[in-house]
Amino acid sequence: MARRDFAVRDGVLVALDRPLLVVHGGAGVEPGDLTAEEEQAARAALAEALRAGYARLQAGMPALDAVTAAVTVLEDAPMFNAGRGAVFTHDGRNELDTSIMDGASGRAGAAAGLHRVRNPITLARAIMEKSRHVMMVGDGAEQFAREQGIALVDPSYFRTEKRWRQLQQALQDDSKPHALHSDAPARAYFGTVGAVALDADGRLAAGTSTGGMTNKRYGRVGDSPIIGAGTWADARCAVSGTGWGEFYIRTAAAHEICARVRLSGSSLARAADEVINRLVPQAGGDGGAIALDAQGKAAFPFNTGGMYRGWIGADGVPHVAIWRDEPLPLP
Ligand code: ASP
Repeated sequence: MARRDFAVRDGVLVALDRPLLVVHGGAGVEPGDLTAEEEQAARAALAEALRAGYARLQAGMPALDAVTAAVTVLEDAPMFNAGRGAVFTHDGRNELDTSIMDGASGRAGAAAGLHRVRNPITLARAIMEKSRHVMMVGDGAEQFAREQGIALVDPSYFRTEKRWRQLQQALQDDSKPHALHSDAPARAYFGTVGAVALDADGRLAAGTSTGGMTNKRYGRVGDSPIIGAGTWADARCAVSGTGWGEFYIRTAAAHEICARVRLSGSSLARAADEVINRLVPQAGGDGGAIALDAQGKAAFPFNTGGMYRGWIGADGVPHVAIWRDEPLPLP
């Protein structure tokens, strides 16, 4: 189903490379964080997510299906902070947030504060397609999931020992005298997942899923389930973000990237770089994003030591990278 089409954009004939799928498994990973086995497992999971999503695109299915399939694989992979393997809240629970958006129709679905939904992205999709709402939270969202026949699990399903140890470390750091005055939740986010896709018919979609930030409290909700902050898709541009969510909300980061593409004619790479590497840091945050435009151009800006990331296009070969200085050929 892969094909190369051409279109006239701003008076110029451009090649459209599609379909195309881009994924991330979160910014915030630093050299030294991973054992060789963990690194290998993360690369394998990214490649598996890319293959799963791309199989949908090759079969002529919509970008939304590719995003859902890729994010589901990453939610199931315990090394990422989404679904199983999510980080812990201050009071020792896994609390999941997610959203999805269809660029062609402008429809969106989102859910926050989930404790039992095995694959949160499937609930975001159901909220988008089967309810009159965009966002549901907590018990109500899980009640809707139950009604829709979406798989629910015991909350212990999400627990991994590594995340538990990260929470214990964060709690210890919290109790140090300087903690109250420190504005940075040091090393608090790792491994949110997301995907953006361009299907054979030129439609874009974006989705994001996360456990949020280690040691978060009081019903904290980050950017990932907020349409326009952590996720955005329109007819020209799709974005999934990862980073210190409060700053992605305050800068409406995902929407801001696409607004710059739409309104100022900025290239995707430039808009994504400006928002993620300038606007968000100026506000005090950090992180990364994946972005894809309707011409099949992708961008992977981030300002941490690493970001799990990858893409797959016409040749059907997954391209995956983690570290800052690691080359990743662009589509
Ligand atoms: N953005 C997420 C949040 O703030 C965390 C992450 O990207 O890892 O909830």
